[in-house]
Amino acid sequence: MTRLGGSILALIVLAAIAFASMLSFGPSRPRAVGPVTEPVIEPPATTGALAIPVAGVSADQLSDTWGDSRAGGSRAHEAIDIMSPGGTPVRAAAAGQVEKLFQSDAGGTTLYVRSPDRRWSYYYAHLAGYAPGMHEGLIVRPGTLLGFVGDTGNAGAGNTHLHFGVSRMAPGDQWHEGQPVNPYPLLAGKGHDR
Ligand SMILES: [Zn+2]
Repeated sequence: MTRLGGSILALIVLAAIAFASMLSFGPSRPRAVGPVTEPVIEPPATTGALAIPVAGVSADQLSDTWGDSRAGGSRAHEAIDIMSPGGTPVRAAAAGQVEKLFQSDAGGTTLYVRSPDRRWSYYYAHLAGYAPGMHEGLIVRPGTLLGFVGDTGNAGAGNTHLHFGVSRMAPGDQWHEGQPVNPYPLLAGKGHDR
């Protein structure tokens, strides 16, 4: 064997050893463990500007409950109620960041998501509970599991539904502020009023 041939052979052997060592290290890499904060999602049913936030509900099943009388006529309903069995997954209607997890007398277990441009807030109420690992600050995208349909707050025992609100936010508005707009056209396919 020539000197050059020996050198090439040595290089090939070294390359083979290097490749083999990569292979042997491959499977021993640490694998992700621990709670999943953003579960694998199904494609959301998107017909309007927003994804319908209750699993298994289609646009033609929605009722426009905006403006309905509430509390004996003392106030108008500034949201949409999406009826669904208790425990049904509630998924983000739009991208954003979980801004507040809040327990209120009226809304029960609630969750607020602020849009990336901070001009919109999405409100999810009467939840039976939050998704595992849910926390304020979590980044969500349409379809991210947020929680589960329930009857907490003033929904009425057994009247399981998602109360879903959308508010236009002015600069400086806090999570509980903003100007509610009707979510129905946004969910049912009439475009987002930006
Ligand atoms: Zn409601």
